[in-house]
Amino acid sequence: MKTVRVKSIEETNALANKIATLLEGDGLICMAGDLGAGKTTFTKALGKALGIDDVITSPTFNILKIYDGEPMLYHIDAYRLEGIQQDLGFEEVFDENGIKVVEWYDYINDVLPSERLEIHIALDGEDRLFQVSGIGKKYQEIEEVL
Ligand code: ADP
Ligand code: MG
Repeated sequence: MKTVRVKSIEETNALANKIATLLEGDGLICMAGDLGAGKTTFTKALGKALGIDDVITSPTFNILKIYDGEPMLYHIDAYRLEGIQQDLGFEEVFDENGIKVVEWYDYINDVLPSERLEIHIALDGEDRLFQVSGIGKKYQEIEEVL
């Protein structure tokens, strides 16, 4: 695990830029952290880094939002799925090329590919600690260079 201390939105943007570049158009980011930790803010920054012009909003009431871009961005917020065991077809999303971001990934862990970049955001006073773990070769390499 690598911990990146983030002191501002600008630093969130910088981290998202770096990760967007390292993913090279395809990959899965699994995000955890309390409400208000900054998961959606990071996803917005990632979308911007990928050149997606649409405003990325919290998909809490939609569960999945798809943003058209090169690469595509798939944004899942599993918050409302806590305790629900149901096949919602997310596997198909993870088979797609593009960037996949999942907030509250614990709630759909059963259907998630094991290879992924996990980002746990914790508050530390005014700062945010982005705890990044890469699982699988591609993601381990990303973790190493952060
Ligand atoms: P989550 O999706 O984890 O529930 P949000 O991304 O919606 O959290 O963020 C909640 C609030 O925290 C927003 O008002 C946002 O502006 C603020 N915030 C997020 N990241 C940062 C940051 N790096 N620096 C300062 N404020 C932030
Ligand atoms: Mg959110």
